[in-house]
Amino acid sequence: MKFISYNNISFKKTKYYQQLPLEEKNVFDILSSVFHFKVNNYVLEHLINWQDVPNDPIYKLIFPRKDMLLPTDFHALSLLYQSGLDQKTLMPFIEKVKKKMYPEVKHSETSIPKINGKRVRGLYSNFETIVSLFPDPMVKTCHSYCSYCFRWIMFNNKEAQQNSSYSDPNEPIAFLKAHPKVTDVLFTGADPLVLKAETLQKYIDPVLEIDSIKVIRISSKSLAWWPYRFTTDKDADNLLELFKYIQSKGKHLNFCAHFTHPRELENDVVKEAIQRIRQTGTIIRCQGPIVEGINDTPEAWSTMWNAQIALGMIPYYMFIEADHNLESCFRIPLAKALEIFQTAQKQTTGLARTVRGPVFMNDLHRTLLDGVTTIGDQKFFVLKSLQAPPNTIGEGTIKLIPYHETTKDAGDLMALFSNKNEAVLNA
Ligand code: SF4
Repeated sequence: MKFISYNNISFKKTKYYQQLPLEEKNVFDILSSVFHFKVNNYVLEHLINWQDVPNDPIYKLIFPRKDMLLPTDFHALSLLYQSGLDQKTLMPFIEKVKKKMYPEVKHSETSIPKINGKRVRGLYSNFETIVSLFPDPMVKTCHSYCSYCFRWIMFNNKEAQQNSSYSDPNEPIAFLKAHPKVTDVLFTGADPLVLKAETLQKYIDPVLEIDSIKVIRISSKSLAWWPYRFTTDKDADNLLELFKYIQSKGKHLNFCAHFTHPRELENDVVKEAIQRIRQTGTIIRCQGPIVEGINDTPEAWSTMWNAQIALGMIPYYMFIEADHNLESCFRIPLAKALEIFQTAQKQTTGLARTVRGPVFMNDLHRTLLDGVTTIGDQKFFVLKSLQAPPNTIGEGTIKLIPYHETTKDAGDLMALFSNKNEAVLNA
């Protein structure tokens, strides 16, 4: 299959746009002018069930939804669109609305690596043993965009890309050599596997020469969005050779595969892609967020985890949608997420039960929502810090926060897991 990508303008020329209900067309026109939108022919032809639009989970995973905007902004934009103004005239208002929706991405001072007091651009180090690397070409795009993505401000934004990434492949080397406690590097993006194998190798090669680096992690949704990347793409074989080469250098290669719905694992091409990756010796660990209207049932997760095990992958994390936008329409209540996780786990093979969740996908902490406990006549959520920045109490600490059936927010995890704070029993 030849890769064909559609943006908010070219998609409107497809038969798929033509068959959308009128209400969905309006939502698409307005929302896709504010938010990111990109879809490819594989997703359109093989993943979305068009008979079930707008309720289809994969449709919801790609297409922006009305609730992503404040009702007042949606209404104002609708009126402007109805007035027939052209895109150029509308642009200043769209930009204003867009800026309001920028997700807040927090970083602690310790997460910005420095050499001689100077920031090393494109590196983030939230925990002592791992550094996330953002080479310039990797932050630009993905094979399709997920509606819930919080990295969308990077897409089509040269300034944001330049400020948070590096271009010289040797840029991270001095920092990594000076910090031998760092054993893992994570290549992330957008999606690193959009790049040609040759370009990827240019950025990975210098890191392979550092003895203290033992694990190379690559985070990608390409198995779900474009499995042909590993089968029939021109340099699919070169990419798989690169995977072997990384391991030949004595490194563990971990493919962090992002899956959101069991349908992403169903067809033959994704199964073949998984098999080809596994034949290189690469371990595939699977993770994804729990998202309202897409996978917020125990069946979605147990089916997905069982399929992952059957295909030889390891279910790794169920994340709670990032806290970059607490009002996000993609979040579900914490109590519901916990119940879905616990019920789904009971429906899985024992091998899938090592999966962790629900875990807050927070830039400063990895925190597990471990259960609910009752003290006296009060109920509490039990939170456990899985990983924490060096200046906090650290891993393994357990805290309690008041239980509310509808809350979607655990509060400020940084403050909760700081040295000074005790469990918030009476809050
Ligand atoms: S694949 Fe990842 S980076 Fe790309 S749009 Fe989806 S969540 Fe965002």
